[in-house]
Amino acid sequence: MSFQNPVFIPGPTNMPEEIRQACSMPSIDHRSSIFGEILHPVLDGVRRVLKSKTAEVFIFPSTGTGGWETALSNCLSAGDKILAARNGMFSHRWIDMCQRHGLDVQIVETPWGDGLPADTYEELLRADTNHHIKAVLATHNETATGVKSDIAAVRKALDAAGHPALLFVDGVSSIGSMDFRMDDWGVDVAVTGSQKGFMLPSGLAIVGFSEKAMKATETAQLPRTFFDVKDMQNGYAASAYPYTPPVGLLRGMQTSLEMLETEGLENVFARHTRIAEGVRKAVAAWGLKLCANSPDVYSDSVSAIRTPDGFNATDIVTRAADTYGMAFGVGLGEVAGKVFRIGHLGSLTDAMMLSGLGVAEMVMVDLGLDIKLGSGVAAAQDHYRYGS
Ligand SMILES: *Cc1c(COP(=O)(O)O)cnc(C)c1O
Repeated sequence: MSFQNPVFIPGPTNMPEEIRQACSMPSIDHRSSIFGEILHPVLDGVRRVLKSKTAEVFIFPSTGTGGWETALSNCLSAGDKILAARNGMFSHRWIDMCQRHGLDVQIVETPWGDGLPADTYEELLRADTNHHIKAVLATHNETATGVKSDIAAVRKALDAAGHPALLFVDGVSSIGSMDFRMDDWGVDVAVTGSQKGFMLPSGLAIVGFSEKAMKATETAQLPRTFFDVKDMQNGYAASAYPYTPPVGLLRGMQTSLEMLETEGLENVFARHTRIAEGVRKAVAAWGLKLCANSPDVYSDSVSAIRTPDGFNATDIVTRAADTYGMAFGVGLGEVAGKVFRIGHLGSLTDAMMLSGLGVAEMVMVDLGLDIKLGSGVAAAQDHYRYGS
């Protein structure tokens, strides 16, 4: 593997030099006042990225998975009913976590390649007249299939059914790279991590809790210690953590937020759409198809690309790494061996993306796929070029 080449996996993403330097700092006393000068701007910045005015933001030394656990353990009690669709590996893992916590999950099996079925959610919520369902899970961007879902539609389903369940959204591979609106969509807990849109190393679970979610913590009975948001809230009031905070990562986060806000969130999203569209043009030129079943669910942060029947898609990822020193993502779960993934989120330019498409092409030709060298690159160039 080359340390010179960018990575094209959907996390961890490429780290800008400014962020790497910000993470690398001398030890400070995390009980001194300097820590608050890092902590509070970070919490405020995350709230703005979540597009929330009032969310309580908590950042744990963990990963996105710890963010899932924070949502469940702080808001729910054993035996509570949960409504969740399974349309990929990440929604599957969150459901599995619910079950291991003794929650009763009503699973809506959904084709891998489809978005969340808001209409089915509405039917099931309407049918739950006694309001046994306490929370609805929604994976905004299914990183395994490259499928984005319509969270506003899930909110509408809850409202149309007049159902009071909490709405928990996994935004791990969307927040900071695709449009996310915590307040507009009535999201009660938003979950993300540091190593995707925020361009940091892994190591932080980042969550936003609505007022309603904070209220739910008062009666929720699931055991929690490390991920207890009340302990964290009390800590923050004194500019501290209930334990030793990951100061370097938080300082990197401060730089990440400054970079996102200097570029402007809307520009960040437009850049992701533009780069993703170039990738999609390349995929079409190769004569391949996305795992995502229709354009309305195409993800702007990751593309999962189907390879012909009988071909092992994982060979592409192995050869790209071993021969060309470049990282792409393997297929996971149900689509293992059937798709390979190109991550295109975080710190990325058109030019970087062309290098990734160029290598993917060489690898596929090496492996005997019927693809013409330069075809995908040319299609992307056509999309990225600015004309005369
Ligand atoms: C990466 C990812 C996760 C898991 O995050 P970790 O930081 O690896 O724990 C969860 N959900 C989605 C959608 C992801 O892309």
